[in-house]
Amino acid sequence: MQPVRGTKDILPDDIGIWQQIYDIAYRELSNYNYKEIRTPIIENTNLFERSIGNFTDIVNKEMYTFQDQGARSITLRPEGTSSIARAVLNHKIHLKNKMNRLWYLGPMFRYERPQKGRQRQFHQLGIECLGSKEATSDTEVIKIAYNILNKLKCTDEFNLEINSIGSLEERELYTKELTTYLEKYKNELDEDSKKRLNNNPLRILDSKNENTQKILKEAPLLKNYLGKPSIEHFQELCEQLSYLNIDYNINNHLVRGLDYYNYTAFEINTNNQNQQNTICGGGRYDYLTTQLGGPKIPAVGWAIGIERLILIIKKSLEKEIISNLIYIVPDKLTNYNIIWNIINILEIYKLQFELDLSSTNIKKKIRKANQIGINMCIILDEQTLKNKSLTIRWLHTGNKQIIKIANLQEYIKYVRNFF
Ligand code: ATP
Ligand code: MG
Repeated sequence: MQPVRGTKDILPDDIGIWQQIYDIAYRELSNYNYKEIRTPIIENTNLFERSIGNFTDIVNKEMYTFQDQGARSITLRPEGTSSIARAVLNHKIHLKNKMNRLWYLGPMFRYERPQKGRQRQFHQLGIECLGSKEATSDTEVIKIAYNILNKLKCTDEFNLEINSIGSLEERELYTKELTTYLEKYKNELDEDSKKRLNNNPLRILDSKNENTQKILKEAPLLKNYLGKPSIEHFQELCEQLSYLNIDYNINNHLVRGLDYYNYTAFEINTNNQNQQNTICGGGRYDYLTTQLGGPKIPAVGWAIGIERLILIIKKSLEKEIISNLIYIVPDKLTNYNIIWNIINILEIYKLQFELDLSSTNIKKKIRKANQIGINMCIILDEQTLKNKSLTIRWLHTGNKQIIKIANLQEYIKYVRNFF
């Protein structure tokens, strides 16, 4: 039996990385007072039709939709933002707090052609900052994405692309002009773009087809259709990003594949050209809650694709997880009292450890620790124990220290700062 096409098991060997991502995101987002939210994986289909838009790729061809036994049309969520907007309105969360900073991590479902970094069930970590129209909140969410990527040791270079896609009215006007322009070249456009000309012309800007891109070079630019408030909002975001030393690139052709965005749109890409290189996509969505029948709640957010992120960070994060693990190497398990005292101390400082339970000699145990990339070993050999001492070996540098058992807690308290 094979798993469903486009789905993957996450095996115990990989779970460490998933937990690490969750922990780092949790810590970072808690610092910014973001609260986790978990919404159902299934929703009524019309939620996504109303929010994402009927003519988008997601709603048009990527949704997992089925009828349940009560003949309701149900969809496996293709993204998180619509569900969160729905939940906020349902529970009137916006009436309790004017600002709501929310985050989620969970599986999403899109019927797409599976390839590297593209699955049918994939996971997104996402945040939504609801309640402010200020460019400072756009800056905040982008800064958080940067912080998380940095903390996750995302060593590949990544680029932030930003654009202002204006208000709904500005975009409508521009879409008309763009369509008129592209109509002239209709026969030269690629097949996908031809189809989009009628129902989603903005997405043509995103086309990877060389000839279409050539035609677009002379096309009217969205930025020339923006009014003063849109321009000022965008300028403010740019200024704040510069102040924070976050490099960005203004991409006039950046539009997102979901209809609910306005003003800011952004993506974070890696330099890798061979695979799906967008790891984070987001933007401002001030009208989503009104589209869903609620009051206007200006908001901005993003989603990071976890599988794509893991493709980049797997190696460096794996190394880090292992090298933070403290390895306890007893000569004999009969010294259990000292072993448990050590474990009690490591527990106090919330350090990760593993006790070697094998019956091999110390040399072999250390060889194993070396092989898996461990840095710190606490060694209990009979000789030093006689002097009420332990040996600490730092495998990455080869340093060795002999310390009194009575001083172990002080020692651990000091070295934990290096983990
Ligand atoms: P793409 O252009 O690559 O299809 P998208 O614009 O459809 O991406 P978003 O809806 O913005 O993607 O989702 C945010 C992030 O979720 C993406 O940047 C990507 O990292 C991830 N993602 C989207 N679809 C998939 C998928 N099918 N498999 C894995 N990750 C995905
Ligand atoms: Mg897509």
